[in-house]
Amino acid sequence: MKVIVVGGGWAGSGAAVSAKNAGAEVTVLERTDMLLGTGLVGGIMRNNGRFTATEEAIALGADEVFNTIDNNCRHKNIDFPGHKHASLYDIAAIEPAIKKLLLNKGIEVRTRARVKDVEMDGDKIVSILLTNDEKLSGDVFIDATGSAGPMNNCGKYGNGCAMCILRCPTFGGRVSLTAKAGVTEKIGKKADGSYGAMSGSCKLFKESLDKSIVDKLNATGVAVIPIPEELRKGEGILATKACQQYALKEFAENIILLDTGHAKLMTPYYPLDMLHKIPGFENARFEDPYSGGVGNSMRFMALAPRDNALKVQGVGNLFCGGEKAGLLVGHTEAIVTGTLAGHNAVRWAMGKELLELPTTLAIGDAIAYVKEAMDTEDGMRRKYTFSGSVYFNRMKELGLYTTDVSEIAARVEKAGLTGIFSKKI
Ligand SMILES: Cc1cc2nc3c(=O)[nH]c(=O)nc-3n(C[C@H](O)[C@H](O)[C@H](O)COP(=O)(O)OP(=O)(O)OC[C@H]3O[C@@H](n4cnc5c(N)ncnc54)[C@H](O)[C@@H]3O)c2cc1C
Repeated sequence: MKVIVVGGGWAGSGAAVSAKNAGAEVTVLERTDMLLGTGLVGGIMRNNGRFTATEEAIALGADEVFNTIDNNCRHKNIDFPGHKHASLYDIAAIEPAIKKLLLNKGIEVRTRARVKDVEMDGDKIVSILLTNDEKLSGDVFIDATGSAGPMNNCGKYGNGCAMCILRCPTFGGRVSLTAKAGVTEKIGKKADGSYGAMSGSCKLFKESLDKSIVDKLNATGVAVIPIPEELRKGEGILATKACQQYALKEFAENIILLDTGHAKLMTPYYPLDMLHKIPGFENARFEDPYSGGVGNSMRFMALAPRDNALKVQGVGNLFCGGEKAGLLVGHTEAIVTGTLAGHNAVRWAMGKELLELPTTLAIGDAIAYVKEAMDTEDGMRRKYTFSGSVYFNRMKELGLYTTDVSEIAARVEKAGLTGIFSKKI
């Protein structure tokens, strides 16, 4: 049985591992020269309800990916405004570590392999076509192509190409498997109803910052530097962010930096001339995106209609994970949905009933809640994450949020799902 995962971001990597564990032959196709997609520039894990979701996933058997992340963190159990017990992975170390995990498991990883089209037989995909015209066949496919860009979307709905990690001019833009299979996708909206959302953080070279800031960052993982009142940009820019869990007042009044290797600046972009006026930032320079003084990547441009088993509606043999599966923001969110998609792809190929995670688990509840929310206009204007904003509030209301690891393991056990993602089907 052959599973082809298109897109090697966190969702695709999670899907590949669970599909392999379930017993399939797995190939991951990634259009750039590195795995992890937008995860190459992120790093925040385990903040707020993401802790619960991570421990649930580990109890469900997705421990290999999460343990690899935990083993590549620069900081663990740190707090920053509005966020508790976060870990920060090292953005330079994580990609080789995940690639090694996949290769050691016998998963075929092909980089610089961009899918440009699909061939259908009725409602099923029979093969996919790469940009170099190579044709690959599989039994079941996973769309983990994300929702960012391509460049024309960043121009039309954002501030232009900001030269982000996705590097569309070099590798060609994102191509959606779902769209190529003839399915109409949804587009996320900002609070004002316009399309897309701008990525919510950028990175500064530590070498370009004052030594006292860098020392604080290296020692504690966090630096909060008040912005002089006359230089505050106001909260307007925060409303455009994909990650509304960071659209808090503190983020408009302070420069909040996190240490992921570079200095992660928790705002979509920051005009360089204004940044240079803030003490300690006189020589600041952007590392990602290169034009972080002007803009950032636009995301949530292509969301697949799917059920709660993560099967794409309208295509017989296509599953989806990560941002492709809805308005779910984050690495944790991408890994857990990708993992379920990979597992269910194998169940589907074996003619078994598909797995829906119960709503007694935060992951199951989030997948179901986001699907429902996306049927409403208001719901399409929000973003969902275990780490804050509407969905974290819901977790707290429902009593799903906890940092008690044994309680989380007991919930998974009660659902009869302990280790399910690590088992052969
Ligand atoms: C600047 C930035 C900072 C962030 N920081 C954090 C953070 O600190 N913590 C956190 O939890 N989340 C963070 N996020 C959000 C998080 O990165 C994403 O929500 C999540 O990682 C999405 O994963 P994904 O696999 O769904 O999509 P993506 O990461 O977009 O991956 C999709 C992959 O598919 C590939 N692809 C697309 N089309 C094709 C094709 N046709 N053929 C082959 N390959 C294709 C792409 O190249 C890409 O590698 C951040 C996002 C950004 C942009």
